[in-house]
Amino acid sequence: MSVVNKDTLLLKNYINGEWVDSKGSEKLDVINPATKEVIATVPVSTKEDVNQAVQAAQQAFNTWKDVPSPKRARVLFKYHSLLVDQHEELAKLVVQENGKAYKEAYGEVQRGIECVEFASGAPTLLMGETLGNIAEEIDSEMYRYPLGVVGGITPFNFPMMVPLWMFPLAIVCGNTFVLKPSERTPLLANRLVELFTQAGAPKGVLNIVHGAHDVVNGLIEHDDVRAISFVGSQPVAKYVYERSAVQGKRVQALSGAKNHHIVMPDCDVEKAVQHIISSAYGSAGQRCMACSAVVLVGDNADQVASKLREKADELIMGNGLDDEVLLTPVIRQQHRDTVLGYIQKGLAEGANLIRDGRKEMDEMPEGNFLGPTIFDYVTPTMTIAKEEIFAPVLSLLRAEDLDEALEYIRKSRFGNGATIYTKDAKAIRQFREEADAGMLGVNVGVPATMAFFPFSGWKDSFYGDLHVNGKDGLNFYTRKKMITSRFDF
Ligand code: NAD
Repeated sequence: MSVVNKDTLLLKNYINGEWVDSKGSEKLDVINPATKEVIATVPVSTKEDVNQAVQAAQQAFNTWKDVPSPKRARVLFKYHSLLVDQHEELAKLVVQENGKAYKEAYGEVQRGIECVEFASGAPTLLMGETLGNIAEEIDSEMYRYPLGVVGGITPFNFPMMVPLWMFPLAIVCGNTFVLKPSERTPLLANRLVELFTQAGAPKGVLNIVHGAHDVVNGLIEHDDVRAISFVGSQPVAKYVYERSAVQGKRVQALSGAKNHHIVMPDCDVEKAVQHIISSAYGSAGQRCMACSAVVLVGDNADQVASKLREKADELIMGNGLDDEVLLTPVIRQQHRDTVLGYIQKGLAEGANLIRDGRKEMDEMPEGNFLGPTIFDYVTPTMTIAKEEIFAPVLSLLRAEDLDEALEYIRKSRFGNGATIYTKDAKAIRQFREEADAGMLGVNVGVPATMAFFPFSGWKDSFYGDLHVNGKDGLNFYTRKKMITSRFDF
């Protein structure tokens, strides 16, 4: 059965092991950002579609929860091998719908596969804890149980990695899942579920409902959905967190970012610049761990600023399928218009535009391109320093010393990541202790954590308690039962 209606290119939902048409009549175009070509259409599904998927997931849960964990893990072993076999095909699909460079997409697929590797250790992960003789002849034991149906809502920028942060671990823990992928990058999700089915997942264990707000609200409001995993922009993350909590659901909502990179005077300037360029402009700056603000400390600030401009000039912009390309298009024309508004705002508020990426836009009208843009002499109170722009726009701030640079990070409402470039052990330690963000890099441009650690944003970059991945992910997708037993009865 096909994941798409061949005549209309309209994607189908996947419910209870079947590819089905959405009940909604509205649909949206899925556009290749590098060519503006319509590659599919996605249904704007309704609450009725959600109800059907949740019902199927609830029914599947009744048996899936009792499947022994080694057997559940075996589905993931098989899934892992299918994903590895399809690595290149999956990466090409990411390029097609998201626009990022093939090398980045290949890396993203790898990151997704690593989440499956982590989740495959389920029998070990799910072990409880025991303590004999907590009092005379009395023992205590802890067992882990799944929650039930979990809803996952994902963004456009990592169509492979983010869904795989969620459903493999949730499902191997014994839950069942309803995924709502981004309506801007929905194609890969259908491929992921096809392969999951091929790996032996029983019907109803993983379902997909495509669409937008109504699907999100349908999941949040449904009594049988026990937990929500969300990744996306800050206002939506806060909305999903608050609405889900009111409904009594467990929720983790990963949100927007403004990641500062501190360049200390003693650092290797060539290497720091190379890392900043790749972090700021890879995936067109559309990464929640992208460098968007550089804090130049000390005397070599002018040298670093001019090197950054020089390297930005050398960047090759184009279609992500071309090997040479690093700078790819932003996701939609509408998003680029918002970014152009930020550039105007930066100018109006007095920042110094030392590289204007708008000049390259007209040269490449075939896609949503924007050249590398750099503002210098940005101050922490300017809009471009405070808000997430999510595009190839970099702000350079100046600081007298590390204390002042750390103060900028402290004052930011976001706290996803931060990096320092230095060889000075004392500065590294101070940065580690005082940087007010959850994922730090020392001479690392994109300090994203691996699947066995939590993806650990702070402040307005995360709403909830338990993060995705690692032991946090395990704790999020399980609940604990304690048994206290007396044996001298
Ligand atoms: P988005 O918030 O527009 O969309 C995310 C999801 O929410 C989508 O599935 C979308 O359909 C849904 N949605 C959008 N508006 C909604 C509304 N009003 N009501 C209900 N649902 C709604 O985010 P995006 O543009 O797809 O993704 C980029 C954002 O995600 C950036 O802000 C980025 O920083 C963030 N992100 C964060 C992390 C992290 O780990 N913190 C990781 C990846 C992306």
